[in-house]
Amino acid sequence: MSTSRLAPELSATEEELESLSAAELIRWAHAEFGARLCLTCSWQKQSSVLVHMVVDELGVEMDVVELDTHLFFRESYETRERLVERYGLSLIRPDIITVAKQHASEGPNLWETDPDRCCHVRKVEPLINALRPYDAWISGIRRDQSPSRAGIPKVIWSERYGVWKIHPLAGWDESDVWSYVMANDIPYNPLHDAGYRSIGCIPCTRPTQPDEEERAGRWAGSDKLECGIHVDDCDPPAAND
Ligand code: SF4
Repeated sequence: MSTSRLAPELSATEEELESLSAAELIRWAHAEFGARLCLTCSWQKQSSVLVHMVVDELGVEMDVVELDTHLFFRESYETRERLVERYGLSLIRPDIITVAKQHASEGPNLWETDPDRCCHVRKVEPLINALRPYDAWISGIRRDQSPSRAGIPKVIWSERYGVWKIHPLAGWDESDVWSYVMANDIPYNPLHDAGYRSIGCIPCTRPTQPDEEERAGRWAGSDKLECGIHVDDCDPPAAND
């Protein structure tokens, strides 16, 4: 599925954009796209960084879209509430089919029988609809999270969503994220302290061991690496986000 939109031209070259810091890239994107730029959050540590950077460090007005599958951990929802309160966020919440309706229409526990379909229904389709009013989307993915993300550019056109994808944290590693969170005393998801280095839906997330990749706890035991959201940025075999 794609929107078939043509990419609006950018005022900067890829080389110029790659040279920008995270904050500089957000500032550039805000000047470039104005109100047609949004930030998405799923309440992992990258969400904490980006919310603080946008609201507190840069002081820019930006729509914040919550990517909630209705299957998040209680700690993720509590993190959302703490960030909403501290930064005065007014979240945009995409429409999503209820879990009960999904059970009825697609069969019970779709995440066990067909996780790609489940991610499509609960993540990709709601995001496609949520991004229609925008020309650009800021996401917190990082190159060091997994081999499939190692080659992501800081700015890339997404055919699927019909927006420019902006990755301010592409060049950050995990320690950069934690340094920023701690230095600025930003609320973060406490599951990270319990061994969950990457956090998604309850049925598809487990803690990781210290010697595992950061995203090894997502869809553990299967060859699924991504849920499909970032499908047109990542190298094969990450054909799903
Ligand atoms: Fe479904 Fe699991 Fe994907 Fe969440 S992560 S949408 S539960 S398959």
